[in-house]
Amino acid sequence: MKLIAPDYYTDFRCIADKCKHNCCIGWEIDIDEYTRSYYEEIISAKPAEIPSSFINRLSEGISYSDDTAYFRLAENERCPFLNKNNLCDIILTLGEDSLCSICTDHPRFRNYFTDRTEVGLGLCCEEAARLILLKPDKTELCVLGDDKEAQTLGDDEQKAIYMRSTVFEIMQDRSIPFEIRLRKMTDYCGITLPQKSHAEWTDIFLSLERLDDKWGELLTKYRDFAPDEFDFTKLESFDACFEQLTVYLAFRYFSDGVLQNTAGKTAAFIALCCNMIRNLFAAIMLSAVSSDLSDMLIEIVRMFSAEVEYSDCNIEQLMSVL
Ligand code: SF4
Repeated sequence: MKLIAPDYYTDFRCIADKCKHNCCIGWEIDIDEYTRSYYEEIISAKPAEIPSSFINRLSEGISYSDDTAYFRLAENERCPFLNKNNLCDIILTLGEDSLCSICTDHPRFRNYFTDRTEVGLGLCCEEAARLILLKPDKTELCVLGDDKEAQTLGDDEQKAIYMRSTVFEIMQDRSIPFEIRLRKMTDYCGITLPQKSHAEWTDIFLSLERLDDKWGELLTKYRDFAPDEFDFTKLESFDACFEQLTVYLAFRYFSDGVLQNTAGKTAAFIALCCNMIRNLFAAIMLSAVSSDLSDMLIEIVRMFSAEVEYSDCNIEQLMSVL
């Protein structure tokens, strides 16, 4: 069994208290069984080496719904263990090994195949988004581990991985403009995006389940942007960022799309998300006076990821119109 990841994966470091959009705010985190038992053991045994004030917080900070334990969000939807310096008191008191699996894992995601596990970093984390979008050279996949136990990929998995590598090749062909690469990718997958104006697509995005009102405000503000009147050659210096975005989306979703017989829809989803982000970026660029454009792009992508990608029901809804 192999462990495969994009080549930037091992460079990721959480920036913790320097993070503007801390993942410990706004998300209710489920606690896995193993960690739940560990916390419950601390609460009932009250070990002398752990401050009693922390044990009380642990007891008060955990809620239960049916059989699931989760951290009860405090004021402003903050995790009850996120201190005023935006550092985690569980790590500070019990050590990093004491985190539940979701906190340990975030922002990582995994896809499973017969002979490999693929692991990547999700764009809803601003530091992961920075690392991925600003990577100047082409992203490659590398083997991070191999237990040498021979497993054979099924035919469908081989096809999925082959098709995905072709999508990578198309999207990473820097000899042609980005929008042509995007069209070649959808052509390769035998699909064209439904003809809709930017405003019509925006209305569809606005109809999705929402996490943060800022995303809705951004979409509404630039709903009437006219892509046909914008000179997209002005975005050429950001082609590499958009290439990284599509390669990320393909790495995360495409092979599963092939396995589910929805390769075309998945390619259309990638193209649609990319077009929406490019249009928003272009519209903001037109009105921005002196902001850092890279930071702006990272923020749009982070928001898109948290709002669209991290909601199965939003992805489903978008897929249903493709
Ligand atoms: S969003 Fe990313 S950088 Fe920010 S606290 Fe979470 S893991 Fe760290």
